[in-house]
Amino acid sequence: MQEPTRQAIERDQAHCWHPFTRQGEWCGRGHEPLVLVRGEGSWLWDSEGRRYLDGNSSIWTNIHGHAHPAINAAIGAQLEKVAHTSFLGFTHPLAAQLAERLCGFFPEKTLERVFFSDDGSTAIECALKMAVQYRQQTGDPARNGFVAFANGYHGDTLGAASLGGVGRFFERFRGSGFPVQHVASMDELRTLATGNIAGVVIEPLIQGVNEMRPWPADMLAELRQWCDETGTHLILDEVMTGFGRTGSLFACQRENVIPDFLCLAKGLTGGYLPLAATLTTGKIYDAFLGTADRAFYYGHSYTANPLGCAAALASLDLFEQESTLDQLPAKIAHLANALAALQARHPLIHEIRQCGFIAGIELRRPDGEKFPVSERFGEAICLAARDHGLLTRPILDTIVLMPPLCTTIEQIDHAIAALDRALG
Ligand SMILES: *Cc1c(COP(=O)(O)O)cnc(C)c1O
Repeated sequence: MQEPTRQAIERDQAHCWHPFTRQGEWCGRGHEPLVLVRGEGSWLWDSEGRRYLDGNSSIWTNIHGHAHPAINAAIGAQLEKVAHTSFLGFTHPLAAQLAERLCGFFPEKTLERVFFSDDGSTAIECALKMAVQYRQQTGDPARNGFVAFANGYHGDTLGAASLGGVGRFFERFRGSGFPVQHVASMDELRTLATGNIAGVVIEPLIQGVNEMRPWPADMLAELRQWCDETGTHLILDEVMTGFGRTGSLFACQRENVIPDFLCLAKGLTGGYLPLAATLTTGKIYDAFLGTADRAFYYGHSYTANPLGCAAALASLDLFEQESTLDQLPAKIAHLANALAALQARHPLIHEIRQCGFIAGIELRRPDGEKFPVSERFGEAICLAARDHGLLTRPILDTIVLMPPLCTTIEQIDHAIAALDRALG
């Protein structure tokens, strides 16, 4: 190990605290975390000069590849002017333009207002607080709770976490945050009394943290209909599915659904900088007009950060310039075929779950039983794949494969070959 690598690891282990990480193991003898230092397109390099395919888009964020010249130039150009100015009391051209562009993806008189924040969790927090305050200001204050889906994930800040359906993450903080009822299906949803429900929150088309589990076809359209019939707001968490991952720019477009709130983050800046957006309708926005106490008292220091907006606009331009969405069907089909072939070779692959350019590969014992959680089999396979030039993280024993949208057919084959050897 070279000196800079050793130094980075030593300093990290002395002072950093990592997300979702057992720090005892992280800092234990023999653990040598990768020190990532450079990226280009779908590739990343570590401090020892080894190259890897970014198989999970750097935790589901990257869209057009790392160090893309156009996004780098857009950030650089804004950096020459100013890195950050306050959106509280001021505006700037890029935020105004970005808000207009985002609303422009939806029909007129639907989603027409954008509230910027910093990440997926805060995009959800905004939607929840807006939804509750809307009811207070429209004479319906009893509607102060939410419905979320079992095993869903919507972020880690307190309000977003109160929606969380993954017990191992959220059980400890139950009782804090919003009143939330969890349901597993549309049938279960239909049994609920709606008098105290402000909104329903869902990850459309596919649940990410729930081991990449797609919803039944047409479920989103049915949910929209249920929301209309019951006067409930539909809050879509497209933090993962947004910006092309499912094959369309937004997952909701696949079922012709327009939500009352749309939460965007991860891929918004192409995966370059933290920036999030909560889109909502003119009708909801209008309820916040009038006297001072009706305003939405919410915000963060870096709201609508100009560098983030520059990256986001450049990323949206690239969707057009590089015909990103037009190229996806062939890649999605290739990924499906390659995964099917991989499954045919490896009895440990229990199920492949794919939605667009998002795939989960669930591993189980050949007899179909799950591996004991303590074995951490998925983690071992990802570690082995790393030696063959693929970086990704499992969710339990489901290996996630969702590389940047710019990933080529050859690079998909590289990723599959790495998994093939790792499973071997
Ligand atoms: C990642 C994620 C979030 C949380 O976003 P952060 O930027 O990590 O706060 C929320 N919802 C979904 C579906 C996500 O994948």
